[in-house]
Amino acid sequence: MCGIVAYVGQQEALPIIIKGLKRLEYRGYDSAGIALLNSDGLSVYKKKGKVSELENHLNGFSNLESKIGIGHTRWATHGEPNDVNAHPHYSSSEKFAMIHNGIIENYDVLKKDLMNKGYQFQSETDSEVFIKFIEDIYVNNHISLEEAVRLALHKVVGAYAIVIMNIEEPDTLIAARKGSPLVIGVGEKEYFLASDATPIIEYTNQVVYLDDYEIAVIRDNKLQIKTIENVETNPYINQLEMELEAIEKGGYEHFMLKEINEQPRSIADCMRGRLDAKNGRLVLGGLRDYMNKFQNADRIIITACGTSWHAGLVAEYLFEEFARIPVEVEYASEFRYRNPVISEKDFVIAISQSGETADTLAAIELAKSKGATIFGVCNVVGSSIPRATHAGSYTHAGPEIGVASTKAFTAQISVLTMMALKLGYQRGTLSESRYMQLLGELETIPSKVERALKLNDKVKEIAAAYKDSRNFLYLGRGYNFPVALEGALKLKEISYIHAEGYPAAEMKHGPIALIDEEMPVVFIATKDSSYEKVVSNIQEVKARKGKIIAVVTEGDTTVKHMADHVIEIPETEEAFVPLVAVVPLQQLSYHIAVMRGCNVDQPRNLAKSVTVE
Ligand code: GLU
Repeated sequence: MCGIVAYVGQQEALPIIIKGLKRLEYRGYDSAGIALLNSDGLSVYKKKGKVSELENHLNGFSNLESKIGIGHTRWATHGEPNDVNAHPHYSSSEKFAMIHNGIIENYDVLKKDLMNKGYQFQSETDSEVFIKFIEDIYVNNHISLEEAVRLALHKVVGAYAIVIMNIEEPDTLIAARKGSPLVIGVGEKEYFLASDATPIIEYTNQVVYLDDYEIAVIRDNKLQIKTIENVETNPYINQLEMELEAIEKGGYEHFMLKEINEQPRSIADCMRGRLDAKNGRLVLGGLRDYMNKFQNADRIIITACGTSWHAGLVAEYLFEEFARIPVEVEYASEFRYRNPVISEKDFVIAISQSGETADTLAAIELAKSKGATIFGVCNVVGSSIPRATHAGSYTHAGPEIGVASTKAFTAQISVLTMMALKLGYQRGTLSESRYMQLLGELETIPSKVERALKLNDKVKEIAAAYKDSRNFLYLGRGYNFPVALEGALKLKEISYIHAEGYPAAEMKHGPIALIDEEMPVVFIATKDSSYEKVVSNIQEVKARKGKIIAVVTEGDTTVKHMADHVIEIPETEEAFVPLVAVVPLQQLSYHIAVMRGCNVDQPRNLAKSVTVE
């Protein structure tokens, strides 16, 4: 994963790179490093830990002036997080320095070859092998660095976004990508490179998204892009629409809290211009050209990872209920490796917040090769998945910085709900009157989420009572089963408390053995078609002295008498409950994590954009 930033231009590179790395810390925070070039030569500074540790480390040095630089914040894949494994990595001669995001899968073979030739390695990383491999080609063939990079890229297997500095060309940056993202910001006589646009937006809104197998050379104030086959391409300049304030905390203590509270707006933004309930209109631009395929699909396959996979499970219920097309929801990482049966009549929906998830991208390529139609549901505009799919709909939730996904989840469900309703209506499996009724209700969701957010104080009290629990169980049925999974995942991710999500009825097939007076059980028990059954499941837990926290529909009196705590959420259509019910579960995990002193926005071992397998 990791975040990379580079700069070349008229300004001081150091502050731009440090600020950019802080914006990218959500991508990894095992170590941070920077390379600068000035009268002292090409110098690399790196430190285990966060960017702030690097800043402290840099305080001990003078002559950090440089108009060019590369920086990296790492999520370790090869070699433990320490100073030596931190990037940038030097070549043997220390003439080149490189930052790398990704994994070089054949690094071992390359390393052995290089060692046989006498190369020595300081770190355990695949990245150091990569730059030394480039150096070896450069030295042996007496060619330019650019050409050496190009030849090397033909030999490396895996994923990369790289940027290289060269002491002999002090105004030049060489970058390349395959599988990991890289955005180039084009300013007035200056260029910025980064893993996403957030380090760039305050300087320029003109960006070029580098494509796979492309090499960018910025030299002498000019940007040149070539494919690895050495064919020059015309850089396409995109206008960035992101606002600076969208990536700042705006008075909140954590990004996650800000993002939880943004949901009424992000869901509304997602539906804006698409849903017009009064006139029965639902327009998803991306679907227009593919509606025929969608409507006549034999099967819908949804592929995703993590929270997006949970959104996919909600969609399974939605599509099957409203459009009567069979749905399969697949973990992308399993799907891609198990030789799945896919045909041209399948419609594949790939869901990813970042649009960069490596497993999901690989699943897309596989399904594409079998002739299926691929539709992306992503948040980050211009990311790899929207470019790899036939069509898609953005979720328009705005930048999500907290590593644990919140507003992206509800925006994904919003898009998928609109898709399911549109499909059901077009196929005639949803009557006009029911369709109109559902559209009307969908439009009220942002205000219902707003009301659900007001439960914060109550949820905080519950969090205080259970913050020291060692385990949690989350149970729900039907549409609320994926909500239970998502509630458990949020808690695990940010508080490090072990939590399991289960279909409520499955509890008696195993997890019930775990229940005693120490075990908090969160039920999502809203008034819906399985309500009575869930009430029975609550009784079963109560009989075994489990502690019951229940998310119920406003005005519920039955569960109130059984549960230790109830959280009453506004009533809505059964199919839309996940959008509202997940809110107090996000708040619960947030408060528990804060009370336990955890780093909510940057939980240990995780990173937001999973660009490695
Ligand atoms: N594979 C490299 C490493 O472990 C880069 C990881 C990353 O993308 O952060 O250092």
